[in-house]
Amino acid sequence: MKNVPAIVVHGGAWDVSRELVGPNKTGISHAAIAGIEVLKAEGNALDAVEAAIRILEDDDSFNAGIGSVLTLDGHIEMDAAIMDGKTLKAGAVGSVSNVRHPISLARKIAEETIHVFLVGKGADDFARAVCAQEVCSFGELVVERRKKLWEDINERMGDKLVDGYLKAQVELLDKYPLLKNVPLDTVGAVAIDKNGDIAAGTSTGGMPMKLSGRIGDSPLIGCGTYADNDSGGVSATGHGESIIKTTLAKTTCDLIERGHNAQKAADVAIDFLWTKIGGKGGVIVIDKNGNVGLSYNTTKMPRAWMNTEMSTPEVTI
Ligand code: ASP
Repeated sequence: MKNVPAIVVHGGAWDVSRELVGPNKTGISHAAIAGIEVLKAEGNALDAVEAAIRILEDDDSFNAGIGSVLTLDGHIEMDAAIMDGKTLKAGAVGSVSNVRHPISLARKIAEETIHVFLVGKGADDFARAVCAQEVCSFGELVVERRKKLWEDINERMGDKLVDGYLKAQVELLDKYPLLKNVPLDTVGAVAIDKNGDIAAGTSTGGMPMKLSGRIGDSPLIGCGTYADNDSGGVSATGHGESIIKTTLAKTTCDLIERGHNAQKAADVAIDFLWTKIGGKGGVIVIDKNGNVGLSYNTTKMPRAWMNTEMSTPEVTI
């Protein structure tokens, strides 16, 4: 069977504020085109996923790389993972603070170490050793919009924020509706190349006002990111703790292995996320036959998909 190389990209399941609709659409469209150019130029699925996510990490309208959200104590701690469905080779970083493209660092871990997952200082030190050009400062990653949200929440919540994080979070949701539908803007991509090889990747600044050291689903293999040529590739987004508990990306791939196509697997997985633990989120999927699917139970999930026979991507918010 002929494989039509394709890529699907997301810009985070949750909500999109009005002023970011345009920038988000442009960003995911550019990312899909960048991925398709790689696939047309005989690059493989892994190259396409990395290229697409690097564009989104450079785009400050998303919560990944530049534009990442701030932690409770005002820092940036990013997570990312990439996985090759042909070999199951995977690389991931958690809580990195000084890297411009966490997805590329994750790929270096997959290809240049015997490990899968590096976190915190060790991951930042590894970046300095293997890709010094990727190292950057907090000042280069932080944007005004994120600082303002952090300052605003701190001002309104005062000591309650440090007074017991869990209690404060509940109050945050009750008293600060902005956080209920706060755009999370995590990014992800899944691609299939002409050989039928599949890859998936996800990159994020995580949850706004998270505790320092919190790692979400995005870099956890099988939770936010998974790829296996025998089933498919998945990038998940949404409430990280719920996605971890349901190992959502691997659950979606297992559904494909049991006979569902990409769309059906995505729908069943998101239904499971909700009925099992009331989790909110979304998945983008490409199955082993090259079908593209996606599902989400949040207000919005910006996404774009394109194959090498299309002249422009199909973009939806
Ligand atoms: N899943 C991410 C996290 O919890 C957030 C997101 O997808 O927007 O860190």
